[in-house]
Amino acid sequence: MPKAHRVGDQRMCGATTVGAGLNTNVFVNGMLAAVAGDLDSHNMLGALISQSPGTILINGIPMIASIMDQGSPDQIGLITHVTGLPTPGTGSPNVNLYGGQGTFGGGLGNFGLSGVPGVGEIMQIGSQVVGQVYRTAVQGGNSGMLALNNMNPNVTPPTVNTTITSANTGKTFTFTSYYSS
Ligand SMILES: [Zn+2]
Repeated sequence: MPKAHRVGDQRMCGATTVGAGLNTNVFVNGMLAAVAGDLDSHNMLGALISQSPGTILINGIPMIASIMDQGSPDQIGLITHVTGLPTPGTGSPNVNLYGGQGTFGGGLGNFGLSGVPGVGEIMQIGSQVVGQVYRTAVQGGNSGMLALNNMNPNVTPPTVNTTITSANTGKTFTFTSYYSS
């Protein structure tokens, strides 16, 4: 189930979520719960976007679920991280949001030469289904972010250097970082 993302948790691009003063009094495991609009440590950009059902609110603002939810572009030095790279990656070890929406996993990595798999494509490790493409982002060349949902609980999740392959199109993605939620 998607983990509750908190101020101080990591984004996939390496940034850390920073509060924007929208939630000042609701804590998860002693850390401020992150809400839509909170920023990150890459130039105080990367506003969090709710893509989950958005029905769990703090002060009327949706809480953020790791991987399921999204981050706006941010910037480190002269490099802009496109939408998707600042996706919230880590979260609470024991507070989850939106049970029943499946299990999510994803991270940064490299797409194969045949391109970027589409949302909904079934991805496999070897001959075993691992999950379905939930969201992708391309950050120049063949690198980017890929997130999965409907993870198969009976398959060992990807780790760094794991390549997943689309059963639909044969397109591949090789993780250089991996988060689960
Ligand atoms: Zn970033």
